[in-house]
Amino acid sequence: MSKLKIAELFYSIQGEGRYMGVPSVFLRTFGCNFTCGGFGMPRGEMSIERDAIAERMIEFRDYNELPLVSTGCDSYASWDPRFKDLSPMLETNAIVDRIMQILPHRRWEHEHLVITGGEPLLGWQRAYPDLLDHDSMHRLKEITFETNGTQPLSAEFKEYLQRWRAQREITFSVSAKLPGSGEKWSEAICPEVVCEYEQVGYTYLKLVVATEQDLTDAEQAVLEYRTAGFTGAVYVMPVGGVERVYTLNNRTVAEMALRKGWRYSDRLQVPLFKNEWGT
Ligand code: SF4
Repeated sequence: MSKLKIAELFYSIQGEGRYMGVPSVFLRTFGCNFTCGGFGMPRGEMSIERDAIAERMIEFRDYNELPLVSTGCDSYASWDPRFKDLSPMLETNAIVDRIMQILPHRRWEHEHLVITGGEPLLGWQRAYPDLLDHDSMHRLKEITFETNGTQPLSAEFKEYLQRWRAQREITFSVSAKLPGSGEKWSEAICPEVVCEYEQVGYTYLKLVVATEQDLTDAEQAVLEYRTAGFTGAVYVMPVGGVERVYTLNNRTVAEMALRKGWRYSDRLQVPLFKNEWGT
């Protein structure tokens, strides 16, 4: 029986991308290859908000008690090792039991499964077949992997997904990290990886932007993906894990999308639920 280290498992409205508004189960795995400390910071500076939270770690017994941050990665506790004890390692059977408990009809009807992170396509690829092949998961019809687009699919997992999608829908929502995230271009923009996802499921880019410099970076990235053969849709999404930041730039980003002929993705979880844990 495979195991997954789970940072969060909750039922909410998908707030971003292609399935915005769809009731979804979110399975947030632990671990990421990036840290994205640059979000919401002046170019070249890195957030230290999570360091201040880590120093108060003794105060927090549960993931949901952690403070939200307005700079850096807003799901920091799903990868920073200092918070790892708040994310249990669970067998896939136990995860499926929890999923059934949070679904409104105790079984899949029209809800969507979102596997997110952290970066969900790190080593956990080997555990997903066990999860998805569980008897209670057979009614599930739509799944999205929310990924940063840097992790190739293993040959075994790619073959598994190609079988799975014969009667169902797989989506890769690729939030590629532009320099405004603080990550290096050479490590974050991996067109050949994203083109491989397109062979397995509907794949789109979802780029977080706030400034004209971010928009210029987004144009360069899209050019590189297109040159490699990527054909999917491009969304731009405002920065902002807290409402104060999000409302500063959501309209500007919508106007950028209109200028470029790209799609706009909101972050519905921010105005609806204040981006609290579990939303
Ligand atoms: S890739 Fe995503 S989860 Fe990982 S650090 Fe960046 S924003 Fe956070």
